[in-house]
Amino acid sequence: MPDSTAFVSESDERQMLDAIQKWIEKKVAPVAMRLEHDNEWPAELVADMAELGLFGAIIDPEYGGLGLSATTYARIVTMISEEWMSLTGIFNSHLMMATVVQRFGTQRQKDYWLPRFASGEMRGGLGLTEPDAGTDLQAIRTTARRSGDRYVVNGTKTWISNAIEGHVVALLVKTDPDAQPRHKGMSMLITPKIDPETRAPLPGVSNGRKLEKLGYKGIDSSEFVFEDYECDAELCLVGGEEGKGFVMATGGLEIGRVNIAARSVGIARRALAESVKYAQVRKTMGKPICEHQAIQLKLGEMAAKTRAAELLTLDAAAAFDRGERIDMEAGMAKYFASETAVEVAFEAMRIHGGYGYSKEYVIERLYRDAPLMCIGEGTNEMQRIIIAKQLVARNKV
Ligand SMILES: Cc1cc2nc3c(=O)[nH]c(=O)nc-3n(C[C@H](O)[C@H](O)[C@H](O)COP(=O)(O)OP(=O)(O)OC[C@H]3O[C@@H](n4cnc5c(N)ncnc54)[C@H](O)[C@@H]3O)c2cc1C
Repeated sequence: MPDSTAFVSESDERQMLDAIQKWIEKKVAPVAMRLEHDNEWPAELVADMAELGLFGAIIDPEYGGLGLSATTYARIVTMISEEWMSLTGIFNSHLMMATVVQRFGTQRQKDYWLPRFASGEMRGGLGLTEPDAGTDLQAIRTTARRSGDRYVVNGTKTWISNAIEGHVVALLVKTDPDAQPRHKGMSMLITPKIDPETRAPLPGVSNGRKLEKLGYKGIDSSEFVFEDYECDAELCLVGGEEGKGFVMATGGLEIGRVNIAARSVGIARRALAESVKYAQVRKTMGKPICEHQAIQLKLGEMAAKTRAAELLTLDAAAAFDRGERIDMEAGMAKYFASETAVEVAFEAMRIHGGYGYSKEYVIERLYRDAPLMCIGEGTNEMQRIIIAKQLVARNKV
């Protein structure tokens, strides 16, 4: 069973979830639809999220974070995603960056970066993807060359969440582009766009275009261009050692997959809840559509899959909280929950008929937001390959 008491007590967790639920009802629900359709950065909600401590949700309390368990964190992400999934990307990508420092950083880097990350004073995300390298991260071309006590960075990242509104990114680079195997030449840098002390813009880094998307509106996705950008090696090279970046970007971030699974559960739960309501009030042939067997078959399947997705997600989060290796569990949760979100959102649209296609109902947003869950944090094709490899590795004959 999920050990959600490992980090905060059950009553503390309940209180926190209640406070977040109230915030969602009072502040998020009234504006989510408008902000999403206007693709507007939710500045006020971001300030609220900082106040609620969400930018430090899984950062250790000694650095100013809340130190929540993965289980509590997953529950929060699901709740917020039921209302507006985009909001969770603003703090989750940021927390993936923070996790890199918390797990792999030197003591000096933790002391310097984590309090700034936990407060939301320096917000950011993960900079892995490039125009020619997504799944195949070892093909990245962004380089960081050591020059005395500094690194000089050149290259272009794309699809980076929080790139424009954020201030800093955990950047996957090649410190030895000729290394074989390729991953041995990869390192992770923390690269701010602004001076963390003066907040003055730093030279050599800029955002390219803001990318237009099917869904996931409100949060910015953009290119990140580095041209002879310089950073202080002691502060920016995570762990103080070159050649470890690939492990940090892949093996170290299973919690990101749990997060995507939790977001997917939020999308599916909302689509199901809307469908259960609508099916009772919409009448055809003289009775509510929930009395037609065709609709009942849909609702039954949607409910079973949504619950299964939720349990797989909590199972992976609980294993993470016990300190276990969770690449297979997180992969299963991410894969199943995201495919479920896509399916349940689509079925919800069918149940809503023409109204499901209308921008005045939440269903069309859920339908547009769900597919990203199959792509981000490792595509679902890759998740199934990871699951299979782990199955074989754990069951050797
Ligand atoms: C809205 C949005 C936000 C994003 N945010 C971020 C972010 O904050 N930071 C970041 O770094 N990136 C981010 N990304 C990028 C995202 O992580 C990549 O799009 C994803 O990793 C896939 O890479 P790709 O698009 O290059 O596809 P490709 O790697 O080119 O893959 C194309 C297809 O081939 C399949 N495929 C590839 N290799 C294999 C293989 N070996 N075996 C089987 N199938 C394979 C894939 O599964 C996919 O179906 C974001 C993307 C989007 C759309």
